[in-house]
Amino acid sequence: VTRPADFLLTGAGELLTLDPALGDGPLGVIREGALAAGGGQIVWVGRTGDVGKEVRLLPGGREVDAHGGVVMPGFVDSHTHSIFAGSREEEFAQRTAGITYQQIAAAGGGILTTVRATREATTDELVAVATRRLDLVLQHGTTTMEAKSGYGLTTADEIKILEAIRRLQEAHPIEIHPTFCGAHEVPPEYRENADGYIDLVVGEMIPAVAARRLAEHCDVFCDQGGGFSVEQSRRVLQAGLEHGMRPRLHADEFAASGGAELAAEVGALSADHLLRVRRDGIRALKAAGVTATLLPGTAFFLGLPYAPARAFLEAGVRVALATDFNPGSCYTPNMQLILTLACTQMRMTVEEAIESATVGGAHALGLQTQVGALTPDRWCDLLVLDLPNYYHLPYLYGVNHVQTVVKAGEVVWPREVST
Ligand SMILES: [Zn+2]
Repeated sequence: VTRPADFLLTGAGELLTLDPALGDGPLGVIREGALAAGGGQIVWVGRTGDVGKEVRLLPGGREVDAHGGVVMPGFVDSHTHSIFAGSREEEFAQRTAGITYQQIAAAGGGILTTVRATREATTDELVAVATRRLDLVLQHGTTTMEAKSGYGLTTADEIKILEAIRRLQEAHPIEIHPTFCGAHEVPPEYRENADGYIDLVVGEMIPAVAARRLAEHCDVFCDQGGGFSVEQSRRVLQAGLEHGMRPRLHADEFAASGGAELAAEVGALSADHLLRVRRDGIRALKAAGVTATLLPGTAFFLGLPYAPARAFLEAGVRVALATDFNPGSCYTPNMQLILTLACTQMRMTVEEAIESATVGGAHALGLQTQVGALTPDRWCDLLVLDLPNYYHLPYLYGVNHVQTVVKAGEVVWPREVST
C-alpha cells in the first residue's frame, strides 16, 4: 500500500534525519534519501529508489529534486531580538575604534538606543522593517524562531512589539514563538529605581500581555553589571509562570551571577549565554533538564570569551545553538555562521553543532515533538543545501548554502512568482 502525499522530496545525496534510528551516525543520515509529506507533516522518509513502491504523489502535489545536495531540517533559532526599529552602525564603528559595549551602554547608548527608536515606531513600521529582516532569516535557512520583546520597556510599547510579532506570525512563512522580555534593561525613567521597574513588569506588564495572549515565554536579563539580580529575576519569572508563560533567561553572560542556578530552580526551558557559568550552575542545569542555549555569534561580535560548550556536553546537558540576532551585540540572521563558530571556537563537532541548531533549538522552545528533525509526524520543514556532504556546511563559511527552504510542506524560498 502506498502512502498518499502532497509533497515529495527526492535525490538527497545525504538526508539528515537527525534520528539515529533512521540512518547512519548521530545525525541519522540516509544516502540517496527521499521524504514525503501530507498536510504539512512528514509521512515517510527513506531512499529515492523506494519512492515508487512507498509513496503516491497526489494530483497537484509538489515534487522537489535535491539533485544530490544535502537535505536537513530547517534551523530552529531559539534566541532572537529580531523585532526592533533603527540600527546601531555608529556604535559598531565606535567599538572598532576601541570603545567597549559596556562603555557605550553606560553613556546611554546600547540597548537604550534601540529602545528610543522602537518607542517612536508604529506597529506598521515595526512590521515592515521586521518583514525584510525575517526574509533574510528565512533565506539563510531558519524555519522556526523565537522572537523577544524588550525594546519598549513601557507596557504600551512592549505590547506594541508583541502585536507586531503576532502580525508577522500570520503573514510570514517563518514559525515565530513570542517571548515577553520586558525585564531586558532598566529604562531611563527608572534608572535609580530598578525595583520599581520590576514592580511595573510584574504588576502591570505581565498581566496585560497575558490577557492578550501575546507571549508563550517570559525572559529576563539576569546578570551583574547590567541586567537584574537573581531576586528581581525570580519575581519576574514566577509572575510569568503564574500567567501561563514558560520561563527562559539570559544568564551568566558578563559575570557568574547565579542565573543558571535560577533557571534550574524555576524549571526554565532554557538558560542562555552562560559564558561565565559556574560548575554548580552546569550541574544544576543537568539535574533540572534545562537546555543550555549558546550564542557564539555574540561572543564573536563583542570579542568576549566563548561559553564552555564541552563542559555542558560532557556533563550531559542538552545544548542549543542560536543567533541572538539583535542590532547591538550580534547582527546576523545566519545560523550557518553560528555552526562554524561553534565548531572552531567552542570545539563542538560538526554533528554536535548541527544537532544543537535543530533538535537542540526545538528543545529550548519546548517544540521537540514538532520540529528539528525529519521524522514522521513532525512538520516538513527542510533545507536543500548546494553541498556535496554535510561537513561542507560549517567548513565553507561566510556564504549562504541554502538553495531551497520548505516550511510545513510548502516551498517558501525561493519565492514562487505567480504569473
Ligand atoms: Zn539575548
